[in-house]
Amino acid sequence: MNLHVPENDITAIVEADKANVWHHLTNHKKFDAVDPLMIIEGKGMRVWNQAGREHLDCVSGGVWTVNVGYGRESIANAVRDQLVKMNYFAGAMGTVPGAQFAEKLISKMPGMSRVYYANSGSEANEKAYKLVRQLAHKKYGGKKHKILFRERDYHGTTITALSSGGHTERNAQYGPFTPGFVPVPHCLEYRSQWGEVEDYGVRAANAIEEVILREGADTVGGLILEPITAGGGVIVPPKGYWDRVQEICKKYDVLLIIDEVVCGMGRTGTWFGYQHYGIEPDMVTMAKGVASGYAAISCLVTTEAVYNEFKGDMDDPMSYFRDISTFGGCTSGPAAALENMRILEDENLLENTTAMGDYLMGRLEELKGKHEIVGDVRGKGLFCGMELVADRDTREAAPESMVQAVVADCFAHNAVVIGATNRSFPGFNNTLCFSPALICTKSDLDEMVEALDGALTRVTAA
Ligand code: PLP
Repeated sequence: MNLHVPENDITAIVEADKANVWHHLTNHKKFDAVDPLMIIEGKGMRVWNQAGREHLDCVSGGVWTVNVGYGRESIANAVRDQLVKMNYFAGAMGTVPGAQFAEKLISKMPGMSRVYYANSGSEANEKAYKLVRQLAHKKYGGKKHKILFRERDYHGTTITALSSGGHTERNAQYGPFTPGFVPVPHCLEYRSQWGEVEDYGVRAANAIEEVILREGADTVGGLILEPITAGGGVIVPPKGYWDRVQEICKKYDVLLIIDEVVCGMGRTGTWFGYQHYGIEPDMVTMAKGVASGYAAISCLVTTEAVYNEFKGDMDDPMSYFRDISTFGGCTSGPAAALENMRILEDENLLENTTAMGDYLMGRLEELKGKHEIVGDVRGKGLFCGMELVADRDTREAAPESMVQAVVADCFAHNAVVIGATNRSFPGFNNTLCFSPALICTKSDLDEMVEALDGALTRVTAA
């Protein structure tokens, strides 16, 4: 591809980046030796770097975000038209795209009723925590304030979101944390904490009840879970898990918060991940795929029952949710999100996700049959993981250097995949993630699998 930036300008831009930008998630010592990689253009499933080299993006912008693919002019136009008409107003005022997107979103979420706008996944989760805390004050004298989270789940980057983060390696540097967040065990059967048990899903869910009873049910107000754990190793909860979780939440009057930041907006083949399991959440948070990265937007969605708890007498200090996000008043987010949803519907991308997801899982299973290093493959829709092991019998995790070598080899062969980098748990740092845009075709997936197959062969032979 001919990049639409003159070569001299690109050199200057790379230098400007190197001299001025602090990159996310990067040990910048490496830039002593190499230039940062710049992604200059994108179209559909493909991106082009500063050297004009094409890559197949197998991870939707790195972190499960660009669900409808790159270069969507209709989204850009919707945002542009909205911005020149009315770009922003916050507080108690409404905006046209805010109302329209909320109506459309709620139509896809039976049982849910209200949309609260924010900017990032972390922030949406923090707002859910604030609702739990405010309800604890309003109804239980502050006592029912604890919020449970699950090992290996991730809910964001702020200190309180990290306080509910199950990636210990990612947290270690940032304590002390916000009190009142309590971990429950993960539910990855491949790495069972209870040996071989008949009904692992029910066993793992019962562990939540054990924590509630240990802490005291009168102190636990909320439970936050990813429907399918993402960065924690692509963990699809086993059969029986969700039914039991729902029962436990109802029994102990614990509000169930589902973090759909990754799974939301079609990633797993349904609008939301929780919809595979017949769950009735009290709150749902979402971010990444909501506008596919064309604008920053996140949402907290609640039931009418939760909403009504915050409709009190005007002179009651607990009467309403005393919260605002300055940029929750930007219209670019809902305008982009509305068009993003139109694309998902008109191009039948949920159906494509189910079909292509099944195809991808089949191809990954083939690789498992061929390569001893593959211990487990798991996923739903276009949200798949491959766990690499040093020994299939003992399930000893493959060393991180090997996982990163596979990622680097795929990249050298023009496919961008990611390897989770947290070293705290086996099954996590050694899991490769695949999450192509929901527009992908069989031939895109074949290209990806071919790069991966070659990488697994080359790295294990080295
Ligand atoms: N929740 C989940 C499941 C995530 O994966 C992430 C980010 O990766 C977040 C929340 C935080 O979202 P953000 O980075 O937009 O704050």
